[in-house]
Amino acid sequence: MAKENTTAKQAPAVDTAMYTNGSFSPIVDKCDGCERAVDVDATKYCKSYTNPESKWRLGICNFATHVKPELVVSKIKVNPLKASKRASGK
Ligand code: SF4
Repeated sequence: MAKENTTAKQAPAVDTAMYTNGSFSPIVDKCDGCERAVDVDATKYCKSYTNPESKWRLGICNFATHVKPELVVSKIKVNPLKASKRASGK
């Protein structure tokens, strides 16, 4: 018979001091709504990156939870006969 764990699971304590020691930059406007942003002393910081602004410099932040990249799907017509010949290696 398995023992039941009677202690309630507690969420790990978040060390907020690391955000205010100067190594973390506040989030930028584009980060609003992201679940990785944490509120520390009325300023929001990113849990994943020290400099959120740099994550948006080349486009969408790859860890953003509130924005998804737009996928462009192009339809290419394939001739089934030619595709079959190509697949058979002739
Ligand atoms: S994961 Fe990206 S979008 Fe989310 S808070 Fe951090 S930098 Fe901003």
